[in-house]
Amino acid sequence: MHRFPQHLLDGHANFIGGRYLRERDRIRGLAALGQTPSTMIIACCDSRAAPEMIFDAGPGELFVLRNVANLVPVYQPDGGQHGTSAAIEFAIKGLGISNIVIMGHGRCGGIRAALAPEHSPLHEGDFIGKWMSMLGELPEQLGQNTLLTDGERQTALERISIRNSIRNLRTFPYVAALEAEDKLQVHGAWFDISTGELWVMDTDTGDFVRPQI
Ligand SMILES: [Zn+2]
Repeated sequence: MHRFPQHLLDGHANFIGGRYLRERDRIRGLAALGQTPSTMIIACCDSRAAPEMIFDAGPGELFVLRNVANLVPVYQPDGGQHGTSAAIEFAIKGLGISNIVIMGHGRCGGIRAALAPEHSPLHEGDFIGKWMSMLGELPEQLGQNTLLTDGERQTALERISIRNSIRNLRTFPYVAALEAEDKLQVHGAWFDISTGELWVMDTDTGDFVRPQI
């Protein structure tokens, strides 16, 4: 029998003695009344880019979906088992959230694999190559520009893929309809895991800029 990882048990003991104790009333209220987050975050699985850490959010505040490279597929009601689409559907239809943020990040391994699959250990996987193929021709197009450095290409695809995911998100009929009624806002963001900086997408131009605080 394997022991449950000790660092998780230690971490949980700290949680119970610290944050849970401090926020007990709020957490019990959430348990009794249910969750009512107003914001969904679609982020990468990368352990360095946790939305609750980046946005300093407590329990009940963010409805978070994480997948490899924070991609959103197109609306595809084909009877398949679509995890990302199911979470989006629940966020909108079940929770009535009013903001969706697609948040990419620097040094994303999924994006790196899409740009240089032949050099990536992820290439051998059965699922990641297929998943990243959602980006279509975008990685190849960037690869053709030999004046871009590897770093520039990586950052560019991290940000282009966010705009691509926003475009895909709008193929969900209820997303487009709620946006038209001004009941839902879709945002892009990019997190620099090294400096901790957050860049937000200008919804008019698509540029990523440092937010005015
Ligand atoms: Zn990533």
